[in-house]
Amino acid sequence: MLEKRKIEKRRKDEDLFKVVDSTLDPKTYVNLENIASRLDIETYLGSISSGKEAKIYPARTYDGKYYAVKIYYVSTASHKRAVERYTLGDQRFEKIKISNTRQLIYTWARKEFKNLKRMHEAGVRVPEPIYVYENILVMQFIGENGVRAPLLKELPDEEIDNNLYSDIISQLQLMVNKAKLVHGDLSEYNIMVYDGVYIIDVSQSVPIDHENAMDFLIRDINNVNRFFESKGLSIIDTEEILKTLEIP
Ligand code: ADP
Ligand code: MN
Repeated sequence: MLEKRKIEKRRKDEDLFKVVDSTLDPKTYVNLENIASRLDIETYLGSISSGKEAKIYPARTYDGKYYAVKIYYVSTASHKRAVERYTLGDQRFEKIKISNTRQLIYTWARKEFKNLKRMHEAGVRVPEPIYVYENILVMQFIGENGVRAPLLKELPDEEIDNNLYSDIISQLQLMVNKAKLVHGDLSEYNIMVYDGVYIIDVSQSVPIDHENAMDFLIRDINNVNRFFESKGLSIIDTEEILKTLEIP
């Protein structure tokens, strides 16, 4: 009964996509329709971000809940390079043949989903992963009523304080010591602030035994330290932070 009502409603308003996006391919559209019926999504709203490798769209359910939908572009040169750089040496993905670019992108989306799941289960504040299919990843929406929370980068100076810094360092410790992952692209651009911090964008994260894990980790810590230092706050030296992290 409920299903029927939804289908009728959908037909009537033909409103599943608030904005038709010419950068999405037909297959992605079909997948988005299937995901909509599976997750009870009434509408996909206009994209809130277009990065080099993906776009993010809010999706609203019939109950007025929001999801963040990350759609990876099916093919870009930078993507291919990045996938090769990060999945080589990662035991979990080494067996995958890097030939078909489309498959490569699906691997990338699945990798972000798995990394989110592993972090979420370890208690790291990341968006809860909901679903992944081909190049589409659905996760918890960080924000309110389809309006995303600010990035650390966008936060007014008066809200950037030592609590925020300790919160990020705690997340880092959970990530490395519990989830056994290194973020690999941590900075003020991949941290959202919404009643505490949320770590996002973990598609490139690698296990702590990855050959580049230490380099990535040092870079991550330096990025965070540089940002807080530039705001005139006292920071903990990278070496001191490293002592609290268990890298094999
Ligand atoms: P990329 O940097 O590869 O384009 P991100 O995963 O960093 O992709 O997402 C891009 C932007 O989309 C973020 O800077 C943030 O503004 C927004 N965003 C990402 N994930 C969420 C989420 N779960 N909820 C709300 N907004 C999000
Ligand atoms: Mn990002």
